[in-house]
Amino acid sequence: PLYNFKKITVVPTAKDFVNIMLSKTQRKTPTVVHKHYKISRIRSFYTRKVRYTQQNFNERLSMIIQEFPKLDNIHPFYADLMNILYDKDHYKLALGQLNQARHLIDNVGKDYVRLMKFGDSLYRCKMLKKAALGRMATIMKRQAPNLVYLEQVRQHLSRLPSIDPYTRTLILCGFPNVGKSSFLNKITRADVEVHSYAFTTKSLYVGHTDYKYLRWQVVDTPGVLDHPLEERNVIEMQAVTALAHLRAAILYFIDVSEQCGHSIAEQVKLYESIKPLFTNKPLLVVCNKVDVTPMDQLSEANREALSIFEKNNVPLLSMSAVTDEGVMEVKQQACDTLLAYRIENKIQAKKVDSILNRLHVAL
Ligand code: GDP
Repeated sequence: PLYNFKKITVVPTAKDFVNIMLSKTQRKTPTVVHKHYKISRIRSFYTRKVRYTQQNFNERLSMIIQEFPKLDNIHPFYADLMNILYDKDHYKLALGQLNQARHLIDNVGKDYVRLMKFGDSLYRCKMLKKAALGRMATIMKRQAPNLVYLEQVRQHLSRLPSIDPYTRTLILCGFPNVGKSSFLNKITRADVEVHSYAFTTKSLYVGHTDYKYLRWQVVDTPGVLDHPLEERNVIEMQAVTALAHLRAAILYFIDVSEQCGHSIAEQVKLYESIKPLFTNKPLLVVCNKVDVTPMDQLSEANREALSIFEKNNVPLLSMSAVTDEGVMEVKQQACDTLLAYRIENKIQAKKVDSILNRLHVAL
């Protein structure tokens, strides 16, 4: 399924909403009525206005309710993200109350159409119509805070990174300056999107590439996956956990030249710290900057530090984003690993949930 988060129609303020509805009734229903008309004709003149207004309120409200994604049937990646960003309960309540307003307006419409049958003069019928439209407007004006909130959600949703949770993904992580964005730029087309992320100052970079006739997205997460889990605040933590729902291979970058300012031992330690997030994902470790420090020139201690990956059957690759050596191999092996990585969806979802629960409890 495709997500239309970016195409939700603008949600008007309550005041505009009411004005739009009333002026539409004025423009689109007959405007001429006379005292000397038969009473049945006068009644139907005003009945029509009440019905027309009620129907328009109904249609417009239904459209809003329909356009906003239902948290229960969207991909867990977006459900998680939306829950973090907009608070699930608030979101559901706002849509639920709009739905209630729709029913109330329908009932006002019905009630006044019934009352109109007892209208015995033009004046009486006109007053009934006025009362009906007034009550509809009042119901709608009470929705003002919900409409403002939904418009904020809409605007924010339209700026969310366009990550497609159904597209195969490579997630890049590691300390700053280890070469993640250099790699991203090397392997993706020149369409890298930058997005601010989830009420934090963080950004997500999303690029696209092709491999084996498939479209892949490559996500760099500066500032998000580059420090130990223990140091995160709750929002950051939850933003990270949304990523765990993606069908992704994780590339953990290590700068073997240590020019990034962190020793190899520190980089291995960070890996250990964020690894729990990706228990259900294929992991690859990429040793970058081998143009500066070739793998066979690593110190004994560093070789020892890196040996932990082989012991745990984690593939260890090497490359240089400067000379291009190994770059395509890293991309290919990461993609191939993900393609070969089959895990039954349900097991996967369960595992993610239990890991996330543990992490949230730990916070
Ligand atoms: P990020 O913060 O992990 O995204 O790292 P960047 O891709 O921005 O790289 C940080 C710095 O390292 C930049 O100055 C790059 O030019 C440099 N750099 C990246 N890859 C290599 C590499 O393979 N060899 C060398 N010598 N420098 C690199």
